[in-house]
Amino acid sequence: METRAVRAGQRRTMEQEHAEPIFATSSYVFASAAEAAERFAGKAAGNIYSRFTNPTVRTFEERLAALEGGERCVAVGSGMAAIASTAFGLLKAGDHVVCSRSVFGNTTLLFQNYLAKFGVPTTFVGLTDYDGWAAAIRPETRFLFIETPSNPLTEIADIPRLAEIAHSRGCLLVVDNCFCTPALQRPLALGADIVIHSATKYLDGQGRCVGGAIVGGRELLDAEIYPFLRTGGPSMSPFNAWVFLKGLETLNLRMKAHCENALGLARWLEAQPWVERVHYPGLASHPQHELAARQQSGFGGIVSFEVKGGQEAAWRLIDSTRLLSITGNLGDAKTTITHPATTTHGRLSPEARAAAGIADGLIRIAVGLENLADIQADLARFA
Ligand SMILES: *Cc1c(COP(=O)(O)O)cnc(C)c1O
Repeated sequence: METRAVRAGQRRTMEQEHAEPIFATSSYVFASAAEAAERFAGKAAGNIYSRFTNPTVRTFEERLAALEGGERCVAVGSGMAAIASTAFGLLKAGDHVVCSRSVFGNTTLLFQNYLAKFGVPTTFVGLTDYDGWAAAIRPETRFLFIETPSNPLTEIADIPRLAEIAHSRGCLLVVDNCFCTPALQRPLALGADIVIHSATKYLDGQGRCVGGAIVGGRELLDAEIYPFLRTGGPSMSPFNAWVFLKGLETLNLRMKAHCENALGLARWLEAQPWVERVHYPGLASHPQHELAARQQSGFGGIVSFEVKGGQEAAWRLIDSTRLLSITGNLGDAKTTITHPATTTHGRLSPEARAAAGIADGLIRIAVGLENLADIQADLARFA
């Protein structure tokens, strides 16, 4: 993993450059009219136009595929573009999707508002309700969609178990691996068919660019996802691909540091008298601690906790910090702090929020790479 993160996918040009170059070109030149015709007809390999392929983007795709253990990766302009491209590539009117209730807000909206408009209904199921998943599948179901660990409560789904449920009924399992990254969890090896990334988060790791990717088997991606990229056009820019390549070089090191800081913070929070409960898969108190230990090689950088005193106390705690960034983003070197009930989950009804376990006093922290003592001291201003 460490070596792939630094080396995979690079091909030097005749200039023998050491770092990956940025190919800032929209199109490519052919040696002759006959060569142009062959490339357009798909009879000869080679670049045509950067909406289809670009060498910097391809290096990023090959490196991420190598890290995820997938045959093929298609890079796109954002995490949501990755999910939309997967949906538009795989689905047709009359198909059906089963999706976890605990997914990124815009994923829910994409399925609910847009896929429905094109004649593809979605059934939403609790992430760990395995009977519910099996019961929701219909003959026309094309894929199941999950995120594990979930946001913000860090619930863990058993990927092999869901893959078995999906495959026994003739559908695919799609896993959004944004929270763990391939440094901590490789869903394809656990039975998933497609992995989704918002490269915006830990793959970049420094909050600089928006991007996304789809990883999976070559046949499936070439036949059903890549043609949508070529025609629909949600392509990744070469500059962003270059930034993500630089991010991937340090991914393993950063994820280790995020995990270490997050575990330290979770344990410290558990000992604070103003904390009601802490959600972190690395704690023995987490209901799926053993599953997380089996399925992941680290517990991740996201910690959430309930502060005593509900929304008033949660807002007071957030406003008392001076170091932490009050922002909804995650996967950054800088620690971020969010109040899910009034931001990321603010559009849910109070009943739906309660059903999802998002308490008014819940706070989510995406633990960054600062010194742990400084993060703790900043949170302790509240006490
Ligand atoms: C941020 C995020 C997305 C969407 O990614 P963008 O790059 O913002 O489009 C999808 N899934 C998860 C889990 C995310 O955190």
